[in-house]
Parts: sequence; structure tokens; C-alpha cells
Amino acid sequence: MVKVQSSTSGYPRIGGKREWKRALESFWNGATSEEQLLKTTETLRLESLQKQKEFGVDLIPVGDFSLYDHVLDTSIMFGVVPKRFEYAGGKVPLETYFAIARGTKDAVASEMTKWFNTNYHYIVPELEGVTPQLVENRPLAFYKEAKEKLGIDGKPVILGPVTYIKLAKSFGEENFSTLLQQFTPLYIEVLKELVVAGVEWVQIDEPILTSKLTEEDFQHVQQAYAAIHEAVPQLKIILQTYFEKVANYEAVVALPVHGFGLDFVHGDSLELLQKYGFPQDKVLAAGVIDGRNVWRADLDKKVTLLEEIQLHVDKSRLIVQPSSSLLHVPVSTETEEKLDPIIKGGLSFADQKLAEIVLLSRGIHDGTETIATGLEESRNALARLNNSKYRQNVEVKETIENLTEQDVNRSLPFAKRIIEQQKRFNLPLLPTTTIGSLPQTPEVRQTRSKWRKGEITNEAYEQFIKDQIDKWIEIQEDIGIDVLVHGEFERTDMVEYFGEKFEGFAVSQFGWVQSYGSRCVKPPLILGDVAFSEPITVKESVYAQTLTTKPVKGMLTGPVTILNWSFVRDDIPRFDVLNQIAFALRKEIEELEKNGIRMIQVDEPALREGLPLDQDKRESYLDAAVYAFKLATSSVENDTQIHTHMCYSEFSGIIKSISALDADVISIETSRSHGEIIAAFENNTYDKEIGLGVYDIHSPRVPSKEEMKQNINRALKTINPKQFWINPDCGLKTRKEEETIGALKIMVEAAKEVRESQ
Ligand code: GLN
Ligand code: ZN
Repeated sequence: MVKVQSSTSGYPRIGGKREWKRALESFWNGATSEEQLLKTTETLRLESLQKQKEFGVDLIPVGDFSLYDHVLDTSIMFGVVPKRFEYAGGKVPLETYFAIARGTKDAVASEMTKWFNTNYHYIVPELEGVTPQLVENRPLAFYKEAKEKLGIDGKPVILGPVTYIKLAKSFGEENFSTLLQQFTPLYIEVLKELVVAGVEWVQIDEPILTSKLTEEDFQHVQQAYAAIHEAVPQLKIILQTYFEKVANYEAVVALPVHGFGLDFVHGDSLELLQKYGFPQDKVLAAGVIDGRNVWRADLDKKVTLLEEIQLHVDKSRLIVQPSSSLLHVPVSTETEEKLDPIIKGGLSFADQKLAEIVLLSRGIHDGTETIATGLEESRNALARLNNSKYRQNVEVKETIENLTEQDVNRSLPFAKRIIEQQKRFNLPLLPTTTIGSLPQTPEVRQTRSKWRKGEITNEAYEQFIKDQIDKWIEIQEDIGIDVLVHGEFERTDMVEYFGEKFEGFAVSQFGWVQSYGSRCVKPPLILGDVAFSEPITVKESVYAQTLTTKPVKGMLTGPVTILNWSFVRDDIPRFDVLNQIAFALRKEIEELEKNGIRMIQVDEPALREGLPLDQDKRESYLDAAVYAFKLATSSVENDTQIHTHMCYSEFSGIIKSISALDADVISIETSRSHGEIIAAFENNTYDKEIGLGVYDIHSPRVPSKEEMKQNINRALKTINPKQFWINPDCGLKTRKEEETIGALKIMVEAAKEVRESQ
């Protein structure tokens, strides 16, 4: 009988201790040579491959490795280099590769944006004006490397043509077929060379197939894959999808490839199988282990799931794998030395997932009784976590279950409470403020890191933070800003900061995942019931308020953002966790209010990005987000003003929900949106107060007053001046002090002039 195979669809690039990040950054800083960079990353890559082999994975991915981003890798494979980088053809030099990603003095970088609904960012291909051609067969090179150096007969992973083109920048819809016709022969060239080299399996990633394509587009997709099949009929191509169930399922599984990879964790792929069956002559790569989350799988449930799958697909045609690339989880729990063993035992990072996959595939192949010990171990580890103190907060659970409508609504509607707020704050027309953080100088970062290492005392650190607050309250007053902030000097990360202080969270040592380029994030682990235990932000906010008669905004991260930027336990519904976070924040907000902080900003930069890929799930997500935000913010007095903030994203279609958050003031990062955001808020659909970033903080250049006035006046064409606030975009913490002061001065002057002209 054919063996039930185990497979990985992609493995983390960054190394267990972020060796990859260090190698890249030291190359960029000029401390190491290109040769050294290539050597270090080769070692890392080979170690990862070897490890997968040792775990017993049958189909090991090659070519999933990248020096920056796999979408950019695909671009350079086809010589897709924007004109401004002066590319002369042939293999794209490493310097050009990094220039596209990071920009140079003379040429701005290509845009980067979120990879589907993950926190990974890819470099957006710019197809306009370039003639693609195959200049480097990267999958082939990686295949040969693994074969020659490790004797691994790898499975090349390639980003498919449909997804690649669909993710590219602003090609008109009408171009899709032309572009696909242009790229298909190039893909065929790649695949033919792979066949010649002896490749048996290839994984072509087409995650775009989880969204609905038009019938016309789909016909082009069929033609493309028919052409591929005709050119390389012997190649075992797995068309890989992830992050959601496939749309156009029946049409997709009729495509002429060897098999399909479906996500059984994030989309109800099983339901599709039950409803429409699965073609009898195809292989199913079943993504049953969560590639996006870090918890040990409930293997008993996975065994059942695989049994259900086998009602539709014979086990001789079954491959067991993670739901997506393991790029989205950290490397291994093994190096975690500080976590409670109960928590550590409940975790499964990439390597532990490999073990789970291999175990399951063996179980189906030889019968589950042969893996009884493995199942038992896993069951026990999960039970220990489930029964632990972390998951027994009955009080929180009951409180949330018994909430009434009244508990989640302000006592007066906006139109009435804003009058009370105006009385309290007495702000001028077009009030000025900032979004929260102020420049984190090297001194701020060094002091925090010394304190973390125990090199300076708590008292000394607290005093240092106070000194920063002193300094910046004075600066803000001198500039003449109306609503001040304390500056967030005590925070490194806006989610981790709360995660360290609420109950139910833990922070790992090495749980890093790639976010963009060499930048990695370490999402906190929400492993238990979340609860407030003691005030988190009160001390700094109250201190700042003692220094000035102007209002100082309290500054919190919102429930949806904390949820979306953490690794969330998967034993209870996600929205239950969301409400627990919201309730903990509600207590923090009440503490701030009790202590005289009457303007409180609750940031929700991740609200928009968490929108589910599946249209049908969007409404319930937005409803849950609105409920949680209101749960967090609604218990305050009418004359306490709730602000929220969101980063630049597409708002059309969700304005109703944004409005339903019922925040008194919203600020949005806008300056790079070229007026789109203003359009979204047109026609008086939004009745509360609003601040649109009037200058881009991402550039060190101090913008001119005229520019800022133009931005303000443009917004005032559609937004009533009585509703409008003036603020920069978010992220001042990344700027230098003098740039920030210079730009804020000009912003305040611009505000004054526009105010006078009203
Ligand atoms: N208050 C935060 C800041 O200004 C908001 C960050 C964000 O928008 N992501 O840094
Ligand atoms: Zn922002």
C-alpha cells in the first residue's frame, strides 16, 4: 500500500534565535559581506531541512526559504523589477533585491502589505511596464541544493501565477487574462526544468482561490492550469490553498493537477467534502494541524477529523500536513526556559507540529493503536493545561455571561454627551493632539533594556520615565498642543505591555515570527482566562496630568487589537477571549477615570486587518468587535471622552461598524491614503468627532505649513469643522526628537491659521 505521507508546506526562515534577522541586519549595516550573509543563511536553511528530515517528514518543502519575502522572490525570478531600480536584465543582483524591498536614496521601495489576514507583509509586485521572463529558476536551485548537500528529494514550493498576479499592484481587471497568458509559459519553463532535474512533487501555492473569482477569471485559471498540465503531465502538482476554505470549490477541484491542499482548520473544508465529495483520482493534502497558532493540537479530535476525511478520500491518496506554512509560528518550544512547564507542555511551535503531523500520518497508515503512547502523552499535556489554575476563573466567565445591553452602552447618546464633554474640556475649534507615542530615543531603549536585565533599579527606571514625561509635557505645552499625551516611554510593544500585566497571558522568550523583512514580532500567549489584576497605565497617566492643566489622554490598546496580535488559546471560542480582554480593559479604564483621567484613547489599529477573508464571517466579526469595544469603554461618565485610533486601511463598507463603536473621537492615519479615507467618511455617515492625520510621520522630512493646511482644508470640505481634530499620523515613537518637535510646531501653526479662517 502507498504510504500515507506527511508533509510540510513551509518552514520558518528566521531560525530559533532569530539568527536570520541578525545575519541580514549585519549585512545591511555593512558589518558582513554578501558572501558571509549567503553562507550563514545557507547553514540555517540546511539545518531546517535536515531537522524536517529527522522528524520523519516525507515531503519536505524547498524554495520556501527567503532572504526577505517569497512574493518578492517570485518577482525577481521573473525579472519583475520596477524601472526606478535600473535593472539591466539577467539574474537580479542581491543589491537590487534589497533595494526593491527597502528603497534607496534615489528610489522608493515597493509597497508592502499584509499577506491575506496574517501579520506577515509581502512586497507588492509592480507589473506595469515590465516584460517578465525567467531569469533565475530559484526552486530548481533550492531543490538541487537540498539533494546534493543533504540527499533530500525536496518538494519545491512556488507561489502560483494566479495569486501572484492578483496580488500585484493596480493592474486593471481587464489585464488579468493577458498577464496570466504572459506568466503561464514562464511557470511552465520553471516546471519543465524541475522535471528534468528529477523533481517528483511540486507545491504551487494559490491561496487566492479562497476568494471568489469571477467566472471569466476562472476560465483563464482553467486554461493556465490546463496548459501547465499538458506541458508537465508527469509532475505531481499539489495546488495549495490556505487560511480559509476554497471558494468555487467544485471548479477548483476539477483543475487538472495531481492534488489539492486544503485548510481544515480555518475554513470548513470538511463541509465541502461532505457536500460535494472529492475527486477520486486526486490526492488530498489535508491541513489539519494549525499553522497559524501555537497550541498543542487535540490529537484525538484530529484523528476523528482524519477519519471523517477518509470517508471521502481513500487513505492511499491522503497527505497529512499543517493548515498553512509554518512561517507564521515560532521555531521550537525547546528553548523556552522560563515558561511554567504546564504552559510549555501545552504549546506546539513549528518543530512540535512536525512531530504531530508525522505521528498522525503514521496513525492513519498503521492504525491508531500504533500511536497510542503519542496520543496519550499529548492528551495528558493538554489536560494539565486545561485543568490548571490559568483556566479556572469562574468569576470572569460568569460576569461576561451575565452582561446586559445596559452594561455595554453609554448612558447618553453621543449628541447629548458631547455637550457635557465640551463643557468639561472647553477645547478650541479644531483641537490639536497626537496619537500617543513620542520619540523613543536610543537612551529610552537602552535604559529600558538595562532595567529589564536588572542593571538599574525599579526606582531609577521609574524616575527616568518620569523625567521623560516631564520633558515632553513641557515641550507639548510650549508648542501649544491642546490635548497632551504622556508619550508611552514605558512601553516597547503596545500589546505585550498589557499582556505582561493582565492575568491569563504569558510571554515567551523565543516565540518570534517574521512580520516584514527582518522584523519579527513576539506575540504574547493568551493561555488562560484573562482578568484585570492591578492598574497598568494609571501611574504614568496620572503623573503626566499633575504636570499640566491641559487634558492628558490615557492611552490603552483595544481588545480587538490585543486579540489579533496575540496567540490566542483555542479551547474556547475566540470571541469569549475577546470579551474577557474587553472586560479587563473596562476595569483599567474605570481606574483611570477614578484617578482623574477623563480623556481615554483605546487604540484599535488591528480591527480592520482582522476582518475575515470569508465574506460570510465578516458581519459576526464586526459585531463582536463592536460589542467588545463597547464593553471596554461604556462604563465611563458622560463627560469622560473616549477616543480611538486606527491605522491606514480601507474603511469603505465598515464605516457603520466604526460608528457603532460609539467612540467620541476617532483618529485615523491618513496622509498616505490620498483622500480615500475622507471619501469613506463623506455624506455625513459619521456623526462623531474625527481626526485625520495631517502629515506623514514616516519620513524624516519636516513638512511645510502649506502642505498641512492643504490637507486640513481638503478634509474640511467634507467634514464639519466642529467635528474635526488635528493630529499627525501615528508612530511618532520612531522619529527623532527634533523632527517631531519641528513638525508639531508647524502643525499647531497650521491649525491656528485654519481656525482663524473659519
Ligand atoms: N498609541 C500608539 C502610538 O502612537 C498607536 C500605535 C498604532 O497606531 N499602531 O504609538
Ligand atoms: Zn496607527
